[in-house]
Amino acid sequence: MLSGKNALITGASRGIGRAIAIKFAENGAFVGINYNKSEDKARDVLKIIRDRGGDGILLKGDVSSSKDCKEVVERFIDERKSIDILVLNAGIYERGSFLEIDEERWDRVISTNLSSCYHVLRFAIPYIGNGGSIIFISSQLAFKGSKHGADYAASKAGMLGLMRSLALELAPRIRVNAVAPGTIDTDIISNYSQEMREKRISEIPLRRLGKPEDVANACLFLASDLSSYVTGEVINVNGGLYIH
Ligand code: NAD
Repeated sequence: MLSGKNALITGASRGIGRAIAIKFAENGAFVGINYNKSEDKARDVLKIIRDRGGDGILLKGDVSSSKDCKEVVERFIDERKSIDILVLNAGIYERGSFLEIDEERWDRVISTNLSSCYHVLRFAIPYIGNGGSIIFISSQLAFKGSKHGADYAASKAGMLGLMRSLALELAPRIRVNAVAPGTIDTDIISNYSQEMREKRISEIPLRRLGKPEDVANACLFLASDLSSYVTGEVINVNGGLYIH
C-alpha cells in the first residue's frame, strides 16, 4: 500500500511509533526512525524492518529542540530527497493535578508534544510533494480533558488546531489528519497498577486495552491512497471508550 513512499516518523523507537514504522515498512515504505535516547530500541526496530525485507534509517534527535528537528529532517532528505508521509508521534505524559504542573513541566510537555510539531513541520513541509500525507498522533484527552494531565490534554488539543489549519492551508497538495488513541498498552501507561488496568478495561466497550498495531492500522489508512478524499479528520481508536 505504501510502495516507494518515504515516511518519517517521530518517536519511533517504541510503542505506537515503533508499530507505525514496522507497519509502514511492511507495506513498502522506506522509514525514517526518529528517536531521542533509546538507540538500542531504535536499532531493534530497524533490524526487524530489514529482516522483513524493508529498509529505513535511524535519526537521532530531541524533537523538543528546533535545531534537532532541522537536523533530523535534513538527514532524511540527504538520504531520500523527499518526504511522502510524516507522522508526528513523539510525546510524553506526566501524571498530576493542575497545581502540580510547575513551569518547567508545562514547558517540557508543551515543547515535546506540540512545539515539536511546529518545528518538524516547518522544516519538512517544503520537502513534502503532491499527494503527501501528514498524520498527527493526538489523544482522546484532546476532547475529554484530563483531571491528571491538563498540560498533556492542552498539547493534544493544540495538535488538532494545527492539524485542521494545515489541512486547509496545504490542500489540495497535501492531506493532513490525526489519530486520537484511547488507552493503548505501551510504556506511557506503565505507571498504571493492575487495578487501574482492570478498571479501565471494564470501562472500554470493546473490553480490552488498545494495541499499538490498532493505531498503526489507522495510520496506514491515512497514509495510503485508501484515504485520498479524507483531510482535516480525526480517527478515534479507543475501543468505544469515548464516543462523540
Ligand atoms: P511511549 O512512551 O512508548 O512512546 C513515546 C515515544 O516518543 C518514544 O519513542 C519516545 O522515545 C518518543 N519521545 C519522547 N520524547 C521525545 C523527544 N523529546 N524527542 C524524540 N522522541 C521523543 O508512548 P506511546 O504510547 O507509544 O506514545 C506515542 C504517542 O501516542 C504519544 O504522542 C502519546 O501522547 C500518544 N498517545 C498514547 C496513548 C496511550 O495510551 N499509549 C494514548 C493517546 C495518545
